[in-house]
Amino acid sequence: MLTPLKAIRKKCLECSNYQYKEVELCPIKDCPLYPYRLGKRPSTIKGNAKKHEIANDILIEGVKDD
Ligand code: SF4
Repeated sequence: MLTPLKAIRKKCLECSNYQYKEVELCPIKDCPLYPYRLGKRPSTIKGNAKKHEIANDILIEGVKDD
């Protein structure tokens, strides 16, 4: 049995002719599935983006100190 997120992911792949990149680049932002099309909760994606941002800030600060 699929989880809801996996079912959405599968539907988006079908909608995009099974092209992963097309799902990522989907231009239909008013589609109700759009926020979930990558198979992750939007809050998880934002959280990961924030973690990367913090990691980059730390790396940049490290370079400045050298
Ligand atoms: S979000 Fe995009 S790829 Fe997914 S079902 Fe909607 S239109 Fe299709």
